[in-house]
Amino acid sequence: MGSSAGAVEIAEVVRQVLLRLQDVERGVPGSQAPPGVYASMEEAIDRATAAQKKVARLTLAEREKCIAAVRAALRAHAGELAEMAVKETGMGRIGDKIVKNNLVADKTPGTEDLTTEAWSGDAGLTLVEMSPFGVIGAITPSTNPTETVFCNAIGMFAAGNSVVFSPHPGAKAASLRAVELINEAIVSAGGPEDAVTSVAEPSIEATQVLFKHPAVRLLVATGGPGIVHAVLSSGKKAIGAGAGNPPVVVDDTADIEKAGHDIVAGGTFDNNLPCIAEKEIVAVESIADYLLFNLLKNGAVQLKDRRDIDRLAEAVLTKEGRPSRKYIGRDAAVLLKAIGKEVPPETRGIVVEVEKEHPFVQEELMMPILPLVRVKDIDEAIAFAVAVEHGNRHTAIMHSKNVDHMTRLAREIQTTIFVKNGPSYAGIGVGGEGFTTFTIAGPTGEGLTSARTFTRKRRCVLVDAFSIR
Ligand code: NAD
Repeated sequence: MGSSAGAVEIAEVVRQVLLRLQDVERGVPGSQAPPGVYASMEEAIDRATAAQKKVARLTLAEREKCIAAVRAALRAHAGELAEMAVKETGMGRIGDKIVKNNLVADKTPGTEDLTTEAWSGDAGLTLVEMSPFGVIGAITPSTNPTETVFCNAIGMFAAGNSVVFSPHPGAKAASLRAVELINEAIVSAGGPEDAVTSVAEPSIEATQVLFKHPAVRLLVATGGPGIVHAVLSSGKKAIGAGAGNPPVVVDDTADIEKAGHDIVAGGTFDNNLPCIAEKEIVAVESIADYLLFNLLKNGAVQLKDRRDIDRLAEAVLTKEGRPSRKYIGRDAAVLLKAIGKEVPPETRGIVVEVEKEHPFVQEELMMPILPLVRVKDIDEAIAFAVAVEHGNRHTAIMHSKNVDHMTRLAREIQTTIFVKNGPSYAGIGVGGEGFTTFTIAGPTGEGLTSARTFTRKRRCVLVDAFSIR
C-alpha cells in the first residue's frame, strides 16, 4: 500500500518536472508557455512544418470556421492588444490601434479570395488552382505589431499555409500575445495546434535561421528598407513590403475644407505610424493659406516661428537628420513638450511650413508633424511629389477635382496606392472600398497582399473530358 502511494507521488513529480521542462523549452520561465511560442526558431519551424500538413488537409469550410474564431478573438481583444502595443513600444494611440485591429478582423480576406481559372474545350478541362506555399516565414514591424500578425495569419492560413513569425524585438510581448490568441482560436474551432508559431526571444539571429531553413518556402517581410533588402538577398522566394514617404498634393480645384479635415485625420492617425499616412503636404500657392486655416480648424497646431521649428527639428531628429527612435509615434503634445511648449494632450498634429529640402519633408518621420511645402502650380506640385516619394512606389494622396491632374500624378508617381479626395487610410479600406491589408508589397509588386498572394498556382489538366458545351 505504502509503496504504491509512493509510486503515485513519484509519477506526479515526474509529470510536474516534464511539464516544467516543456515550459523551459518554450522559453517562458516560471509560467505556462503561450501556445505556438517556442524557445528556439528551429523548434518553431519544426512545429509549423508538422502543422502545415494538417492545415492543408482542412476543407475550405473548416479553414473558414477557424478564421471566424480568429476574427472573433481579435475583436474581443482589440483593446487589450492596442494597450499592450502602446505600452510596450511607446508608439501610437490606443484608440487608433483599436480601429486598426477591428479593421483587420472585419476586412482581411479569407478563403473567398482563392479563385480558380478554367479552360474547357475539345481537349478537355484545365484548371489553375491557388494552392499553399507550405511554411511561410513572416517578419513583422513594431509599428503595427498585432495588426500585421493577425492580418498575415488570416491570409496565409486561408491559403493552407502555416506561418512562423519573427516579430520586431521591441514589440515582442504584443506580437507574441497575438500568436497565442490566434493559436487558441484555431484550436478552439477544431484546427491544428501550431498553425502559427514564433520564438520567445525574437532577434536578427532568429530571423537568419528563418532565412536559411529548407522547410521555409516563402518569406514575407513587412518593415523598413533593411529587412526588405535582407529577404530579397536570402535566396528564397520573398515578398517585400517596405517603407514609404507619401505626399499629399492639394491643388486649386480641391474642396479645401474637406482636404484640411482629411489630411489631419489621415496624417495624425496612430501618430503617423502607418506606412500609408500623409507624410508631407504639397500645396499650390493660391490655396495654401486657406488649407493651413483648415488644418488648424481640425485639431492641428502650427509652429510659425522659424526658431521653434529649428528647435523641434533639433529635438526629434538625430545629428544625421534622421527621425529619433525616442520620438517616433509619440503624441504631438510630447513632441512639443520637448521644446518647452504645453498643448492639450488631445492635440492631433503639428503643422510647420518649411522648404522642400527640410528633413521633416524628406524623411519618413512617423511622427504627427505635418510639414507643408508651398509650390507655384500643379506642374511643380506633381514634380515635387514624385521626387519626395523617393521611388518607393508606396502611397500618394491627392485632393483635386481635376481629372487631368489626378491622372497625371497617378501616371508619374507610380505608387501602389493612390487615394483621391479622402484620408490616406481610405486606401486600406477605412471609408474607401476594398479589402484591408497591413502588408503592402510595393518593391516586389504584389501590391495589397491577401490570401491569394500566399499561394502557388498549379495547373490541373483532365484530357478529353468535362467539356460539356
Ligand atoms: P524595421 O525595419 O525596424 O523592422 C521591421 C522588422 O524587420 C522587425 O521585425 C525587425 O526586427 C526586422 N529587421 C529589421 N532589419 C533587419 C535585418 N537587417 N535583419 C533581420 N531582421 C531585420 O521597421 P519598424 O520600425 O518596425 O516599422 C516601420 C517601417 O516599416 C517603416 O519604414 C514603414 O514604412 C514600414 N512598414 C511598411 C509596411 C508596408 O506594408 N509596406 C507596413 C508597415 C510598416
